[in-house]
Amino acid sequence: MALLPIVIAPDQRLRVKCTPVVTVDGELRRLADTMLETMHAAPGIGLAAPQVSDTRRLIVVDVARGEEKPDPLRLANPEIVWRSLETRLAEEGCLSLPDQYAEVERGVAVKMRYMDMDGAMQEIGAEGLLAACLQHEIDHLDGILFVDHLTALRRGMIMRRMKKLKRHGEVA
Ligand code: ZN
Repeated sequence: MALLPIVIAPDQRLRVKCTPVVTVDGELRRLADTMLETMHAAPGIGLAAPQVSDTRRLIVVDVARGEEKPDPLRLANPEIVWRSLETRLAEEGCLSLPDQYAEVERGVAVKMRYMDMDGAMQEIGAEGLLAACLQHEIDHLDGILFVDHLTALRRGMIMRRMKKLKRHGEVA
């Protein structure tokens, strides 16, 4: 299976508010599988549809590390239904902003609802890295990047670096 090209910031495709998935069919399942392959190859722990130029509310995540067994999740129309008041600062990166990292404050735990790849509604709880990753990926579906959670100064620094990288053709 061919990997999908990842959209690199700044790019208007990363600023789109995505539309709900209406039906889960073979085409959507194949897209989710290809997104997982693309994400694993990058490598990364999460990928959202707009990062591969699709505008549907679909994300994939897999936070298993090193020797851990892969634990891929494919979520359509993911929605946070509860977020802990307790927050935590943790370093994040993004496949659409290669080599840029910053600490982002997010809820420590979340409960979410989503549609699985059989079209059934599911609810899961997550905490720690998985919770942060899910919040990061759901942001993408609303055109929000992790840098949007930073101060304007810090965000400006990172986006200027990204523009320079793109200008020099170091990233696509
Ligand atoms: Zn991202």
